[in-house]
Amino acid sequence: MSNIIVLGAQWGDEGKGKVVDLFSSHFDIVARYQGGHNAGHTVYIGEKKYVLKLIPSGILRSGIQAVIGNGVVVDPAALLEEMNTLEQAGIPVRENLFVSSRAHVIFPFHRLVEKMSEARENRIPIGTTSRGIGPAYEDKIGRRGIRIADLLDAEGFRLLYDTLAEDKRMLAATFNIADTIDYADIRDQYEQFAARIAPMVCDTARLLNDAILQGKRVLFEGAQGTMLDIDHGTYPFVTSSSAAAGGACTGTGVPPTRIDGIIGVSKAYITRVGSGPFPSEIMGEAGERIRKAGNEYGAVTGRPRRCGWFDVPLLRYTASVNGFDSLIITKLDVLDELDEIPVCISYRIDGKDTGDMPATFRGMQAIKPVFQSLPGWKTSTRGISNYDALPAAARRYLEFLEQRTSVEVGCVSTGPERTETMVRSGSKLEKLFGS
Ligand code: GDP
Repeated sequence: MSNIIVLGAQWGDEGKGKVVDLFSSHFDIVARYQGGHNAGHTVYIGEKKYVLKLIPSGILRSGIQAVIGNGVVVDPAALLEEMNTLEQAGIPVRENLFVSSRAHVIFPFHRLVEKMSEARENRIPIGTTSRGIGPAYEDKIGRRGIRIADLLDAEGFRLLYDTLAEDKRMLAATFNIADTIDYADIRDQYEQFAARIAPMVCDTARLLNDAILQGKRVLFEGAQGTMLDIDHGTYPFVTSSSAAAGGACTGTGVPPTRIDGIIGVSKAYITRVGSGPFPSEIMGEAGERIRKAGNEYGAVTGRPRRCGWFDVPLLRYTASVNGFDSLIITKLDVLDELDEIPVCISYRIDGKDTGDMPATFRGMQAIKPVFQSLPGWKTSTRGISNYDALPAAARRYLEFLEQRTSVEVGCVSTGPERTETMVRSGSKLEKLFGS
């Protein structure tokens, strides 16, 4: 009867796509609750590689329903393109995908607004993917956004659209941007999109709550990671939505009383994409080695990811704001070659050790990480799927993380494939997924 939230414990790209795909077989529905088509999960099934940007990865399992919740922002063109790609690979998307009528819509002019504000002088460059996601959320919070339900209401849509378009035109004029957007053409295009997505649109909060009442199990899939959460992340180097566990309720309309467990996904090290403070970052050659070993390049953008050592204070912080019951540690195999593995065990700020997370990015930049090195295991763990079969030093490493973060390591991943995973027997995670 468990409904579980699975989300990133770091800055995203923790391998959530793989684990959600893996565990989704225990669930009836997989729901996304925030973000847009920048989430970029990569899932390997046998020889086939699937890159999912907007559609929950549960769609890859037959018989599982996938829900795009109200907290997500939807670019209909991106949605239709992703559906086509999956359908060509033989995945019956249309039968199993449900899109919230309350989700907000991204328009091409949102991309323009994003580029415009990023290019302005004195702005902190956040390094977004420029897919219009942030500006769509701005319109949502500014109460001028257009939702999927509006898109399906032909007359209402024209009124809302024309007003929003006029706003953007004025904005472009104010900032002296050469505005080449054909607003009427976009409106026509979106009217056509509306007809194509209409059969999948419904009140997904109702669908989820009814399903839960019938005893069905829901897996809530976070996109991005906690440190990119608009409130709890390294603001302003964050995404524009609530990636932390609380967002699963607001972003789907399922009440907190229906959530039975929260699982954090973390790499055995840490990465981040784009700019922003990164206390345990590995600079130079050593960082490059991890990047290569872990293939740390963005699934959607191809951008190289910055790599760092496992950061205990950061994980304790994300465990606290999310209330993790258990951790899944991915990519253990990426550390196989190392003689020793440093772990950031505390932050030193102004000469004092602290486990606290500074609220400002300048505060974060002032952190001097304190490292403790653990012995490496210097042997391949790739594909090991039994905890006791791991080299002793690898188990010691995992148990060190468990002890320092005060959260159990319930599952370990040793490769991109579904089978390259182990669940520890007797763990909370085993109970949550099994029950
Ligand atoms: P997500 O957005 O959190 O799902 O993360 P990404 O999909 O961007 O990045 C995870 C990448 O790591 C994908 O290419 C996965 O196939 C791969 N991956 C996941 N788990 C493991 C693992 O345990 N070992 C290795 N070597 N690769 C993994």
